[in-house]
Amino acid sequence: MNMEFPVTLIKKEQLTHDVVRLTLQRPANYAFAAGQAIDFRLDRPEVKDKVSPFTFTGPGTANYLELTIKCYPAHHGMTEQVARLQAGDEVIISEPFDTVALKGPGVFIAGGTGVTPFIAILRQLNAEGKLQGNSLFFFNKAKADVFMEQEFRQMLGKDFHPVLSNETAPGYLHGMVGADFLKAHISNFKQPFYTCGPEGFVNAVKAALVQLGASENMIDVQF
Ligand SMILES: Cc1cc2nc3c(=O)[nH]c(=O)nc-3n(C[C@H](O)[C@H](O)[C@H](O)COP(=O)(O)OP(=O)(O)OC[C@H]3O[C@@H](n4cnc5c(N)ncnc54)[C@H](O)[C@@H]3O)c2cc1C
Repeated sequence: MNMEFPVTLIKKEQLTHDVVRLTLQRPANYAFAAGQAIDFRLDRPEVKDKVSPFTFTGPGTANYLELTIKCYPAHHGMTEQVARLQAGDEVIISEPFDTVALKGPGVFIAGGTGVTPFIAILRQLNAEGKLQGNSLFFFNKAKADVFMEQEFRQMLGKDFHPVLSNETAPGYLHGMVGADFLKAHISNFKQPFYTCGPEGFVNAVKAALVQLGASENMIDVQF
């Protein structure tokens, strides 16, 4: 049976109007790798018997665990309760499980919180001095939805491409993901691609990449 670990919430930070970062106590000998996720539970009547997958975004070497979660109060589900958590509260996490399989330097294409597995992976590559050759396209509806922008810019420089689909702003690309967009901004389709986000988003990315000549086994799709 999958083991569960009750852990204490140390800190909750608001990264945007609806994205929070949770810093959690790390159980002794709890190991995980960049890109891994967990099943998350809360002992609250509102979400009794509910389990939601979230991805670790913090470094594997830290003495704490970090999650980055987009909250949807209108769904009246797990993330409505996550938005209500306070330091000192207990959350229950499972053992970690794999999400993204790295195939070498490539292009990361994320929709909203689909960026979470890439956060841990890019931070780890950065710590190892291995970021060269990687780029990130981070799609959001509006500028107010973009989180961790400063850190992505510091890590990736010109290889960080924030994209807004519903508005234009200086310093941001504009558009919807699709073959036209990807062709305009990527020249090499014979490299690994990693995409994560809502189902419609990742399906559109995958179809566009295949149309542009990427091989299906070089595309890693999540969510
Ligand atoms: C492997 C994996 C890793 C993930 N990692 C992360 C992560 O790190 N961070 C993150 O933020 N997310 C992550 N997600 C997504 C995350 O699990 C869900 O987005 C989240 O649980 C949805 O929360 P919710 O509040 O809608 O709750 P839920 O409790 O899942 O849903 C509540 C209710 O909302 C309803 N609902 C669903 N969609 C809508 C909609 N569009 N409009 C109205 N009602 C709706 C459902 O019918 C459901 O009854 C991950 C998903 C997977 C599969």
